[in-house]
Amino acid sequence: MADFHCNKCRGADLGPRQWATRCSHLLCDACGQAAMEAAKASMEPVLCPVCKTPLIEKHDLVNFDPNPSEQHRSMILAGLSPALIIEIAGRALSFHTYQMSLQTHLMRQELKTKTSALEAKLQKLAVHGQSEMDRLHTQLQAAKEELHRTVSELQSARQAFAEKSRQHNRLQMLYDDLRRKAVALEATQKTPVPRHSQQRPIAQPHEMRSSTTSSVSGFVTTHHLAKPGLIQQGDPPGQKQRRQRWHHPL
Ligand SMILES: [Zn+2]
Ligand SMILES: [Zn+2]
Repeated sequence: MADFHCNKCRGADLGPRQWATRCSHLLCDACGQAAMEAAKASMEPVLCPVCKTPLIEKHDLVNFDPNPSEQHRSMILAGLSPALIIEIAGRALSFHTYQMSLQTHLMRQELKTKTSALEAKLQKLAVHGQSEMDRLHTQLQAAKEELHRTVSELQSARQAFAEKSRQHNRLQMLYDDLRRKAVALEATQKTPVPRHSQQRPIAQPHEMRSSTTSSVSGFVTTHHLAKPGLIQQGDPPGQKQRRQRWHHPL
């Protein structure tokens, strides 16, 4: 009986003394005592706390020791005929078999209850997981669209930068051409005039500058030509840095 539970409170510890009913129910010591006290208080017959069967007769509710002494085991069936002994043992075995079937039934019910609870929990987790997947999918789509917009903006910026770079290169070429002309003009002014040509009218610097200025169609001011010394010394301040910055590879 050690593997059985109380049929009333389902407790595994049945206590040093247990209770057996005529209706084949097994009670722990506490549940059996409670049933006895309830009957005494109500002045009514004892009712099985499990199936409410009236336990009227003397041996309808038996309080027994699950580990009887050797003396008790020797004397409990002493003097009885073998047929009666077998009949008594058969009834005791039927009680045991019923308790086993009841225990199995209750275990199946408990397992079913736990399985149902687990399935409900899994279903809830599945719904939550699906909702989370939908949310993440929406975020992923938004991130893809943002990335697409960013790439498009980057491509537009690269195209604009390339166009600006081409414009800068054209201006730089015009500037370099103008500077070469200015250097050549300066060299011409410093060259000694031969005697046989001293009577020829010499073009005034301002006339040269005007003609040079007009040749670049306004892309450079006369300020650069009026100071040839600065042009010979190299690029104007910051010109080298600006050229390096505009020559950034695309
Ligand atoms: Zn109990
Ligand atoms: Zn009962």
